Amino acid sequence: MQVFKFGGASVNSAEAVKNMASIVRRYYGPKLVVVVSAMGKTTNKLEQLVPGVISSADSRRQHLDELKDYHYTMVRALFADDPQNAIFPRLDELFLQLQHQTERRPSNYNFDYDQTVSFGEIISTTIVSHYLNHIGLANEWLDIRSLLRTDNHYREGQVVWGITETNMRHMPDSPLVITQGFIAGTSDGHTTTLGREGSDYSAAILSYCLNAESMTIWKDVPGFLNADPKFFANTVKIEQIPYNEAIELAYYGASVIHPKTVKPIQNKGIPLHIKSFLDPEKEGSAIGPFRTIKPRTPLYIFKNDQVLLSILPKDFSFIAEDNLQTIFAALAKTGIRVNLMQNSALSFSLCIDNNPILLKQLREELAHSFRLRYNEGLQLITIRYYTQEIIDSIVAGRPILLQQRSRTTTQLIVGNK
Ligand code: ASP
Ligand code: MG
Repeated sequence: MQVFKFGGASVNSAEAVKNMASIVRRYYGPKLVVVVSAMGKTTNKLEQLVPGVISSADSRRQHLDELKDYHYTMVRALFADDPQNAIFPRLDELFLQLQHQTERRPSNYNFDYDQTVSFGEIISTTIVSHYLNHIGLANEWLDIRSLLRTDNHYREGQVVWGITETNMRHMPDSPLVITQGFIAGTSDGHTTTLGREGSDYSAAILSYCLNAESMTIWKDVPGFLNADPKFFANTVKIEQIPYNEAIELAYYGASVIHPKTVKPIQNKGIPLHIKSFLDPEKEGSAIGPFRTIKPRTPLYIFKNDQVLLSILPKDFSFIAEDNLQTIFAALAKTGIRVNLMQNSALSFSLCIDNNPILLKQLREELAHSFRLRYNEGLQLITIRYYTQEIIDSIVAGRPILLQQRSRTTTQLIVGNK
C-alpha cells in the first residue's frame, strides 16, 4: 500500500487535476490512498469567510461567489462531456452548506475556523473523486473526519493515536481511496484542523496507521532542494536525507515539508519520497533510514521579517532560572514561536516572526518586571554544512546582530546595510 499527497498547487486548475489523474493512473494498483488539499489558494479565501472575520454581508457574499466561480469553472471543464454528472448537484449541496456555515453567528473563533475552512478539502476531494471515477479510475471517497481523531484543540488538533489506529480498520476496501488532508474529527463529531499546511502530516498519520510501504509528496519542485528556488538561482537537489536531518531542516523552517510529518514515518521506517508532479518520471528526493545526506552540500534556510527582542530585568538581577521561567511562561501564554534564542548574564534575546498583535501581548505580560528592546526588519539565516567563505558571501557585508554555531549548523541574524 502506498500513500500519496497532492497539495493545493497540484489541483489548482482543470489541467492540473488532469495531470494529477495521469499520475494516479500510472500507480493504480493493489492499494493506493490519496490525500488531497484544498484547491489552489482556497484555504486563504475560506479564512476570510470564518464567521466574524468580515462584517459586511455583501463582501462575504462576494468572497463566496469567487470561490464558487473558481470551483464550478474547473468542474465544467473537467466534466464538459458529461453535464449530467452527479458532481453538479453534489457541489450545489456543498456550497449551500458552506453558505449556511458562513452565515452562522460567531462563537469561538478557532472552532468556527475549523468548521468553515474544512470545506476546502471536502470540496476538492469530492471533485477529484468524481473525476477519477468518470475517467475509469474506480475509487472510494473517504471522509477522514470519521477515522482521524483529534482532541478539541481547534486549529491545532492533537492526534489521538490509539483511537485513530483502531479506526483505520474501517478504511474502505477499494484499490483507490481519495481523502482529505489537513482535517480531522473530535469524539463528539466536530471538525478540527491540524494547522496550516497540515496535509503532509495527514498523509504521514495515514502512512503510519496503515503500515504503508512508502509515502510520496507530489510537489511543483523536483524534490528537496538545498535552498528555496524563490531566493536562490542555483539550487541543488538532495537525493537522500536521513530522517533526523529532515526533522532538523523542517524545524529550522525548510518549507518543503511540514515539521510534524517525519516523526510518524520514521517510527515505522517508512520511506518518504518528494517528487515533481510536473516531471513524474524523474527521481525525486528520498527521506529514509540513510546514514548520511547525499550530496553533502550547504543547505540554506531564510526567514524574513524577523524581530530580535532583548529582554532585560528591570531590577538589574541576572538572567537566572526564575527570570527565564517567567519569560517562557509568557511566551507559552501568547503562543509565540521562538526561532532562535540566546542568553547572557544581563539579557535574554529571542528571534521571532514579526506579529505586532502577539508582540504587544508579550510586552504586556512582561512589562511588570522587564524592559524590552526591539530590532525589526531582520533576516534569520540558517546554513548547514557552512564554511566561513559561504557565510561571508551570504551575509555580503550586512551587520550580524547575533550568531550561533554548532559543528554542522550556523544561524545568523542579519540587518540591512
Ligand atoms: N489546505 C491547507 C492549507 O493550505 C492544508 C494544506 O494545504 O496542507 O493550509
Ligand atoms: Mg494548501
